[in-house]
Amino acid sequence: MSFQEQYSEFFETLQPEYFDQKRFVPSVGSTDADYVLIGEAPGANEVEQKEPFVGRAGKRLDEMLSKIGIKRNDLYITNLVKIRPPENRNPTKKEINAWAPLLREEIEAIDPELVITLGNFSSRQMLDTKKGISQIHGRIFTRENLKIMPVYHPAATLYDRSKGPELEKDLRKAFGKEESGQQKLDNL
Ligand code: URA
Repeated sequence: MSFQEQYSEFFETLQPEYFDQKRFVPSVGSTDADYVLIGEAPGANEVEQKEPFVGRAGKRLDEMLSKIGIKRNDLYITNLVKIRPPENRNPTKKEINAWAPLLREEIEAIDPELVITLGNFSSRQMLDTKKGISQIHGRIFTRENLKIMPVYHPAATLYDRSKGPELEKDLRKAFGKEESGQQKLDNL
């Protein structure tokens, strides 16, 4: 069953102004996944390959996951808005709200151990806060029985290299793969 078939009720009720098959990117991953990763909206590469996080930010994320020892296939990866916004602009509040019921349904179907929100947009939406990602990243918050950890968006680490180690550290914590500290101890 395709993603659109699986969630056909949602797609039947989505206002046409928020949908465009040519710019649509479905979520990827198993409904048995323990972790759900939520980005912002797809970009050009994602539209081309019909998969979230396959462009530069996605490569960065993949590098980190493999360094930590996590397989991308074991995760469920999605976006707040499943349509690429024109000219790569940020998604609007209206677009985010239009797609929110689908995201809620996906999370209910998967029932993950942890939701990891990538960047400001999905973190603010999922945590219903105006706080910035640099203030809240790496901590686990519980909302309506859902555990949520906001982390930096992998794209942010491309522009600001100092954020790379922060993202890696947070992801290690999220996946329970924190470094033991032995290496640091041995190097003292
Ligand atoms: N950035 C996102 O937020 N989502 C993607 O799918 C790709 C890049």
